[in-house]
Amino acid sequence: MSDDCIFCSIVAGDIPGRVVHETETTLAFLDVNPLARGHTLVIPKAHHARLDDLPADVASDLFAAVHELTPRVEAAVDADATTVGINDGEAAGQEVPHVHVHLVPRFDGDGGGP
Ligand code: 5GP
Ligand code: ZN
Repeated sequence: MSDDCIFCSIVAGDIPGRVVHETETTLAFLDVNPLARGHTLVIPKAHHARLDDLPADVASDLFAAVHELTPRVEAAVDADATTVGINDGEAAGQEVPHVHVHLVPRFDGDGGGP
C-alpha cells in the first residue's frame, strides 16, 4: 500500500470504486473516465509502479484476471472486441503509478483505438 496512491485507496476502500471483480490478489473496477462503455481497469492489489516490478506470481494472477474478465466485460456491454492495454511508464502515458490493465470494449465501426 502506498499512502498517496489512488488505486491503493480504492483497494483499501478509502475511496469508492465500482468494483466488478475481485480475487485474493487482484481487483477490477470501472474507469472513472471511460473511453467506452464498460472500460475496466484490472490491478494487482499490492502497489507496484511498473510491470517489471511485479513478482511473477502477481503478474500471472493479473493476467489470469484479465483473461477471465475480458469476455465477461465484452458480453456485459455487448461489445464486438476488446482493446487490452498497459501504459507502462510515464512516457507511455501512465498517469497512475500503480500497474493497471485497461480493458476497453470495442464496437464495430467505433473508429479507432485508444
Ligand atoms: P493511465 O493513463 O495511467 O494508463 O490510466 C489511468 C486511468 O485511471 C485513466 O483511464 C483514468 O480515467 C483512471 N482513473 C484515474 N483516477 C481514477 C479514480 O479515482 N477512479 C477510477 N475508477 N479510475 C481512475
Ligand atoms: Zn498503489
